[in-house]
Amino acid sequence: MPILILAVLLLAAATGQARVINIVEPSLGLAFTETEVIAHAEPAKRALLAQLRRSGRLGCETHCARVAGVWRALHPVIAAQRTGRQVDVQLVVVRDPQINALSFPDGTIVVSESFIDRLVLGPAELAFVLAHEASHVLLQHERQGLTSMLALIPSRAQRTPRDVYTEIEFNYFAMSDAMQLVFHQVEREADELGLQLAALAGYPPHAQLRFLEQASARDLPQQSMLSSHPDMGSRLESLRRTLPLAQRLWEVGLQ
Ligand SMILES: [Zn+2]
Repeated sequence: MPILILAVLLLAAATGQARVINIVEPSLGLAFTETEVIAHAEPAKRALLAQLRRSGRLGCETHCARVAGVWRALHPVIAAQRTGRQVDVQLVVVRDPQINALSFPDGTIVVSESFIDRLVLGPAELAFVLAHEASHVLLQHERQGLTSMLALIPSRAQRTPRDVYTEIEFNYFAMSDAMQLVFHQVEREADELGLQLAALAGYPPHAQLRFLEQASARDLPQQSMLSSHPDMGSRLESLRRTLPLAQRLWEVGLQ
């Protein structure tokens, strides 16, 4: 029986690997290089991981099997996407109530078991969350955001990603208002691509969205992964428009 299960898993991985969603090369017209953006995010990533290690909250404890199962199905699908560059995504599981799910431009995705518990995420919902974060990486959203912010700050001869973020900190409220459209746009893109990627990995699209539907029905205040995101209603509305495509990708993936 274990051999049969392994065979099914390998078949699912091979099927996912063969299918590619047409991701438009996103680097055209973007400011900075991918290397600069990754390098700028590196200290923050290291500091976060070091702090989690010190507090003993690095690694999985209660959901190891569930997270590993989802990642095993999802990873080959993410790795197969053609973006014109090498994207090496890796997953870090933590146990920190302050953290939900986030990603760094180098492909590191962080998810907290506390978040999985709080939203009672099943495998399909977890696949959507992880695929959403992977989509931010695939679509270079950090770099897209930096490019948009660069246009909003006063002109200076030499500007680095650090300059842009410093400027934003000084003018946080004005900048975040001005950037709202961009923030929401990238979140919708990550939602839509995430839904498709997780569908290709074998997760039924409707099941992926259950936690968003429930949160919307209960009118829960937005948290975390959702704070920089559009409101739940408009998120679900644009995701529902993507459902027929995701549904078809899921069905052909099963054949
Ligand atoms: Zn997001």
